[in-house]
Amino acid sequence: MVTESAVRLLPETISLVMEAERYGIHGLLFQNVCLCPVRLWLHYSRVDCAHLNRHMQRGLVDQGAHYAGTAGISQGIGIAPDMLDFNHHVVSEIKVRKSFPHASRAQLLFYMVVLTVNTGVIWSGRLRYPSARRVETVELTEENQRWLGELFARIRVVIAGTSPPAKVKQRLCQDCSYRLLCWQHSTDDVDFN
Ligand code: SF4
Repeated sequence: MVTESAVRLLPETISLVMEAERYGIHGLLFQNVCLCPVRLWLHYSRVDCAHLNRHMQRGLVDQGAHYAGTAGISQGIGIAPDMLDFNHHVVSEIKVRKSFPHASRAQLLFYMVVLTVNTGVIWSGRLRYPSARRVETVELTEENQRWLGELFARIRVVIAGTSPPAKVKQRLCQDCSYRLLCWQHSTDDVDFN
C-alpha cells in the first residue's frame, strides 16, 4: 500500500490539470484514448450515440441499483465521478464489467489528479465492480502520473485532427455505441456476456 506521505505530485501533473481545463479534456477522454482513437475524436467532437445503445442504458440502470444515493458530483472543478469520500479523500468509479481495466484506471487517475490539485490533499482511487464484489485500489504513484501524462499527449494529438483517425476493427467495436456510425451495424441486435 502507498502512504499519502510517499506520494509526490509531479510538476507536469499540475500542468496537465491546468491544460486539461483549458482544452476541455475530461475523464471519459482518458478512458477513450485507451480504447480507440476514433471513439476519442468523436466524443471530443460531441458526437454521442450512447443513448441509442441498450447495453449502455442497462449499465446505467445496474449502477443506479447498486449505489443509489451515494453518487457525488464535484461541481466547479469539472469532473463527475461516481462516488466521492471527502473524509478519507477517496474517489470511486463504479463499473458493471471488468473489461478494459486500463481504460477505467486512466479515467479514475484523471479524477484523482484533478481532486488532488484542487484540494491540496492527495486522493486515492477505487474501481468498484459491484456484480463481482471486487474493489481495486489505484494510487497516485509517480509511474501512474507519468502514464497519465503520456495519455494526455496522445489525446492532444488526436483531438487536434480535423477529421477522425483511420478506423481499425477491434473486439470493442461489437459493444461500442459508435458501431452504427463506423460500421453501419446496430449494437441493439447483439447480446453480450
Ligand atoms: S466502433 Fe470501433 S472503430 Fe468505431 S469508435 Fe467504436 S471502437 Fe472505435
